Amino acid sequence: MIQIDALRAFTDNYIWLLQDTANQRCAVVDPGDAAPVLAWLAAHPGWQLSDILITHHHHDHVGGVEVLKKATGARVCGPANERIPGRDLALDDNASLNVLGLDLQVLAVPGHTLGHIAYYCGQTATPLLFCGDTLFAAGCGRLFEGTAEQMHHSLQRLAALPAQTLVYCTHEYTLSNLRFAKVVEPENQHIAQRFDDVTQLRAQDRITLPSTLALEKLTNPFLRTAETSVKEKIDERSARINPTQSAVFAGLRAWKDSF
Ligand SMILES: [Zn+2]
Repeated sequence: MIQIDALRAFTDNYIWLLQDTANQRCAVVDPGDAAPVLAWLAAHPGWQLSDILITHHHHDHVGGVEVLKKATGARVCGPANERIPGRDLALDDNASLNVLGLDLQVLAVPGHTLGHIAYYCGQTATPLLFCGDTLFAAGCGRLFEGTAEQMHHSLQRLAALPAQTLVYCTHEYTLSNLRFAKVVEPENQHIAQRFDDVTQLRAQDRITLPSTLALEKLTNPFLRTAETSVKEKIDERSARINPTQSAVFAGLRAWKDSF
């Protein structure tokens, strides 16, 4: 039985902490800062950090890796196609690895960065997805290195996973993403409801994650490029006739960049 908690880092990052309580072993995903992880370990004597999982090379995801590896001897797992400090296990698309007794599958999801990977576990009662800065709650990552086509394809790949999959992304961006989603789809009641729910959570400084793919499909405009209302909104703005889903995605991403 694996328990998952969020450790806060910087202003809006979460470092996901996976805990195998029976064996007092843990793993972290994207430790941009070592301090919150070291503080947790200091507060939990006897626990061992066995693995560090990295989704992509940005500093707010890898900044704590070297300190943690030195302090704990943890194995560093990360994308094969990016420079990851201290990496022990280089992961390509469709690779599998075992972490805390869980079999994880690697999915290449280029777009935010070119080598970005996600980790999927279909073995737990509810599937788990650690997707870094690719799929966010009600949004998606910016296109720093890849194309809109690549990111759209990556998001479609994630969206094809089971609907009940829990989505663990790296940032607390949900409320601002929903502000945008409301403008894209003013008539969408699921978005309106989620906006109210998330507004309440954030007013109490509470986390809005994990999400589920089912909820994302109802409320995340970047997963709703096939919806007529979303398509029409992009039509209006770009004066394109009958855009492809990928063009709708590109239009949404460009709009959100300046929103
Ligand atoms: Zn990033």
